[in-house]
Amino acid sequence: MSTVGTWSSPFAFALLNGTVQSFPCISSLTSRLATTWSWSFTQTTMATNGEGPAIGIDLGTTYSCVAVWHSRDDRVEIIPNDQGNRTTPSYVSFTETERLVGDAAKNLAAMNPVNTVFDAKRLMGRRFSDPLVQNDMKLWPFKVVSGPADKPVIVVMYKQEEKQFSVEEISAMVLAKMKEYAEAYLGSPVKNAVITVPAYFDDSQRQATKDAGIISGLNVMRVIVEPTAAAIAYGLDKKSKFSIEKNVLIFDLGGGTLDVSLLNIESGLFTVKAIAGDTHLGGEDFDSNLVGHLVFEFKRKHKKDISNSPRALRRLRTACEKAKRILSSTAQTTIGLECLYDGIDFDWKVTRAKFEELNMDLFKRCMDHVEKCLRDGGMAKNEVHDVVLVGGSTRIPKVQELLQDFFDGKELCRSIHPDEAVAYGAAVQAAVLSGETNERIQEIVLCDVTPLSLGVSVRDGDMAVVIPRNTTVPTKMEEEFTTYIDDQTDVIFQVYQGENARTDDNILLGEFWLSDIPHAPKGVPRFNVTFEIDANGILNVSGVDKNTGKESNITITNVKGRLSKDEIEKMVRSAEKYRDEDRKLKRKIEARNSLEDYVYKMKGTAKTVTLKSKIEDTIRWLDINESAEEYEFVDKLNELHRTFR
Ligand code: AMP
Repeated sequence: MSTVGTWSSPFAFALLNGTVQSFPCISSLTSRLATTWSWSFTQTTMATNGEGPAIGIDLGTTYSCVAVWHSRDDRVEIIPNDQGNRTTPSYVSFTETERLVGDAAKNLAAMNPVNTVFDAKRLMGRRFSDPLVQNDMKLWPFKVVSGPADKPVIVVMYKQEEKQFSVEEISAMVLAKMKEYAEAYLGSPVKNAVITVPAYFDDSQRQATKDAGIISGLNVMRVIVEPTAAAIAYGLDKKSKFSIEKNVLIFDLGGGTLDVSLLNIESGLFTVKAIAGDTHLGGEDFDSNLVGHLVFEFKRKHKKDISNSPRALRRLRTACEKAKRILSSTAQTTIGLECLYDGIDFDWKVTRAKFEELNMDLFKRCMDHVEKCLRDGGMAKNEVHDVVLVGGSTRIPKVQELLQDFFDGKELCRSIHPDEAVAYGAAVQAAVLSGETNERIQEIVLCDVTPLSLGVSVRDGDMAVVIPRNTTVPTKMEEEFTTYIDDQTDVIFQVYQGENARTDDNILLGEFWLSDIPHAPKGVPRFNVTFEIDANGILNVSGVDKNTGKESNITITNVKGRLSKDEIEKMVRSAEKYRDEDRKLKRKIEARNSLEDYVYKMKGTAKTVTLKSKIEDTIRWLDINESAEEYEFVDKLNELHRTFR
């Protein structure tokens, strides 16, 4: 590529002003290689033998869930974690001695707030300077800083050292835990997985999710969108034929987000027609309204403001969340907190009616998103065949009632556990990709759409769309471009995502150059630019100079901070190191426990002075050697075994 010093001023002008020009009669030159192309999943790489069953993982903002398809009895099984729970908090906590993931990490959140990381999904594939990230950060007790390429980096203290982790690494820790639960439950190694993402995730967010999977040691067979997964689960559960045409609305209201999606299912093909929602609307907001109300009542009754006590607020929030759940099945409940503030006990009766009144504005906002989704999808409500509930907050009766009223009394589909539907569908998808031969799931052919338009910057910053929003993927489209000025020898193609006419208002995904273009008047050279989105929703853009036939260097640069291959490999190694440390620690704790068990068991049976003193010596040794090595505990135990033989 020419160096900056040799650029002619017109070229510099072109560079500053967006360097390429849509070719004059675009429509005649545009060739849509494959506008919609149906895609059979059985065409993709199958899991190879010896890699165990393929799993489906719903990597959620607040909770994650893992499931597997059982070929023997043709059904999906939700895999419980080590606590017997079917969902696992997406939390990672770092302490002076260990790294905890899931329930154990969430339990530490109150005691170890600055080193307990959650909500990593909100950061996935985003830039640190993104206003959404800046806003979220205000609510998090853990530290996030700006890393290379404006990527957010999470900073924690781990084993008395400051450590920095990328979002992908934190998510990989959650994924690795889900993999571990699956392996323990299935009794075999697990290598392959399908992971779900929200339908609105853009290319870099999907890629970041995939990278997290790789770092966790998984082979990510495919990334699919959550509403599609839920629709599969629901369809299988209802034993309805995927071949019959249907429009399905997925209403997914979780802890922090609302996602509304309109899907069309026809001949086994799932197409997302439209999406709407709010990244900050969910169960936590309903909890906050109840907390706010009770802070007010406490003040009214006791003339004291508890809002300046983080501990009191935390206790109140936990109690409110619990009360909210109870109110989904009863008309009233009592919140009772001893010594909540200044030695004052707090007992308060909360009714479902009050809870609904406090949150009615938010509930109505949810319905506005449903309306918007239908509008965007160009569909009347009576054209929707099924309304599927997903996410824990859809258990709230008022939410169900408003939704049912909106659809003129239509029965809502609630047969599938709302927390598990997404992982369920992902597991079915994983089975299909592994070559599962069950007749019904073989009917499934998935199809997503691009959530936002994709194109390049032309002239002085206009957006020339190559792949319009809502195009079914996988897809491959081609556009022709030309030069903007005479004798232009280099052009830059800047790839943007978004709906705005000006690229400044859209998201820059990457850029690449075509160089050494023969001198020619403006408008003469022709460049073919191909945008290709694969079945994972990952975008590849390439360009060729048609006049010379030369395919130039094409690179999508790391503009949005996507991880490089080297970085991923480094993270894979360090994730392995952390897992290794966890395993060692687990073995050490087990060795210590075995020694302790044995010592206390023998303490009661030791009769002679020698034996008694041996026991006392070991107890003293245990007290001062809390962090001894595994082999030391084992040696001590063997020594005792020999003594007591
Ligand atoms: P999810 O993100 O889908 O796991 O949903 C978690 C949210 O669902 C949290 O805000 C929970 O408080 C909420 N949730 C779970 N069960 C219930 C219930 N029975 N009633 C109301 N909200 C619930």
